[in-house]
Amino acid sequence: MINLTKEEEEGIKRSGGVLGLAITPHLATLMDPNDPNCPIRRQFVSLSLEFKTSPHEMKDPCAEDRDSPIPGLVHRYPDRVLLLATESCAAYCRHCTRRRLVGDKKSACAPSNLDAAYEYIKANRKIRDVLISGGDPLMLEDEALEDILKSIRSISHVEFLRVGTRVPVSLPQRITGDLIKMLKKYSPVWFSIHFNHPKEINKRTKLACDMLSDNGFPLGSQTVLLKGINDKPYIMRRLMHELLEIRVRPYYIYQCDPVKGTAHFRTPVSAGINIIEKLRGHTSGYAVPTFVIDGPGGGGKIPVGPNYMLSQAKGKYVLRNYRGKIYTYIE
Ligand SMILES: *Cc1c(COP(=O)(O)O)cnc(C)c1O
Repeated sequence: MINLTKEEEEGIKRSGGVLGLAITPHLATLMDPNDPNCPIRRQFVSLSLEFKTSPHEMKDPCAEDRDSPIPGLVHRYPDRVLLLATESCAAYCRHCTRRRLVGDKKSACAPSNLDAAYEYIKANRKIRDVLISGGDPLMLEDEALEDILKSIRSISHVEFLRVGTRVPVSLPQRITGDLIKMLKKYSPVWFSIHFNHPKEINKRTKLACDMLSDNGFPLGSQTVLLKGINDKPYIMRRLMHELLEIRVRPYYIYQCDPVKGTAHFRTPVSAGINIIEKLRGHTSGYAVPTFVIDGPGGGGKIPVGPNYMLSQAKGKYVLRNYRGKIYTYIE
C-alpha cells in the first residue's frame, strides 16, 4: 500500500484526461510506499501539477506531427525515420513527450498506417535507418512485432534497425525466450532502452538485458533529465556506471521537452551541462552519453555540453581539459 499524497490522489483522479495511468506490478514493488520523492513513484504516479500548462509548453514540442509524411512515421533526418508502431506502453511515464498520442486514445500509430509507412520507406532509397518506437513496440504481440521487423528487413536499402523501449525496466518478464528467438531472425537489431534512475536496475531488469546482450542485440540507453529524480551528478554517474555493468552503453541524456504539464520535471539546461562536466574525463568515456536538446519546433537533437575549446584562430586551438588546465594545440 502506497501512502498517497494529496497531489498524487488528485493527479490519479484526473490523469485519464491527459495521459492514462498504468503501472506494472514490477514497478510498484520498486516504489517506496512512504516516500513521495521516490524516483520510481515520481516517474509513474501522476501529480495534480500535470494539469498546469506553463509558458512555452506545447502539445507536440518536437513538431513530430508536422514532419510525418504518413501518420505514425516521422521523417526528420535525411537517412532515418522514426516509426511509431503502437500507442501503448506497459507503464506511462509522467514526463512523456508523446503524451498527445500515447495511451488508450485513438492515435496516429494505427496498424492501418503501417503499410503506407513501408511503402514510403521503400520509395525513399536514402532511408538506411529505421527506429521503431511508440509507445513501446515490445507491447505488441510477438507476431505483430515480427510482421513489422520482417516488412522493414525486406527493404534492401534499410541497413540499420533499432527499437526504442522501456520494457526491460517496466515489464522485464516480457523479454521471453520466444521473443528472443523471433528477434534473432532479424538481427542485428539495436535497442535503445529508457533508463532514468539506478533504482530501475535490479536482478529482473539485468536478466532481461542479459538475454538481449547474450543473443547479440547491442543495447544503448536514453535518459531524460528530471528534476529531483536524476539531476544530481552523483546519481547520474551511478546510473551510467550501473548501465555499463549490465552492458548498456549510455547514449543520450535529453533535456526534458517542453510538453504541456511537465514543468515540475524540467531542470535548467545548466544542470545537464554540469552533469556532463562531472562525467567527461572523470570517468570511463563509455559512461559519458551525449546531452541533447530536441530543438523545439522540429530542430532535431542538438548536442549541448561544456565548452572545451576556449579559442580557435590561425591554426591555433586553446583548449581546456576536464580539470580546467589549459593546453594549446598547433595545427
Ligand atoms: C531521435 C530521432 C531519430 C534518431 O536520432 P539518432 O540521433 O540517430 O539516434 C530519428 N528520427 C527522429 C524523428 C528522432 O526524434
